[in-house]
Amino acid sequence: MSKIAPLLCVNEIFKSIQGESSYAGIPCVFVRLTGCNLRCSYCDTTYAYDEGTRMSVYEILSTIKGYDCKNVCITGGEPLLQKSVTKLINLLKKSQYKIFVETGGSINIDMLPKAVIRIMDIKCPDSGMDKEMDWDNIEKLKVRDEAKFIISSKKDYEWAKRITRKYKLTDRAQILFGVAYGKIKPKTLAGWILKDRLEVRLQLQLQKYIWPDKARGI
Ligand code: SF4
Repeated sequence: MSKIAPLLCVNEIFKSIQGESSYAGIPCVFVRLTGCNLRCSYCDTTYAYDEGTRMSVYEILSTIKGYDCKNVCITGGEPLLQKSVTKLINLLKKSQYKIFVETGGSINIDMLPKAVIRIMDIKCPDSGMDKEMDWDNIEKLKVRDEAKFIISSKKDYEWAKRITRKYKLTDRAQILFGVAYGKIKPKTLAGWILKDRLEVRLQLQLQKYIWPDKARGI
């Protein structure tokens, strides 16, 4: 009897420039999975909450291979909601891909295989989702992982600064302070970081500066 291939609900697969994290600027294939348990105030991928097509992990792998690019970012939505994501990651690992997974921080990140670079949000108060964080995830971060604050206001910035110090985050992982697009200016956030001598990395959503008129597939 043949085994049924694991399925994932996929919103979109596309090749673009990685716009976030300390890998910003590299070509990357994005696999956006459907569904999210959060509702961040600044969410720019609301279309991924429900829209999607069921694909087997082998179909997804074959689509990825068609792009001829060795960097793959699995994102959402919240990709950890679909348990078969680990099956896809194991297939990608066997094919020697560099794998990034972007997660909202509310689900245990240790479900992910070790091969993955985890890019985890720490939701700031203005997102409206800070109470949903799984704070145990902080202890699970590894040096190769990245933790990302998306900052919408001075209040968010001060909060992110306090959390960074409280958990000594810069000793644990790469720490990103990102601009919530359209909420604060990059130079404002840059000024605060420099004034406070923080050892964090300023992040812009590069894809939005390259393709300001596109909402999907970037
Ligand atoms: S976690 Fe990401 S996809 Fe989910 S609501 Fe927040 S910004 Fe949108």
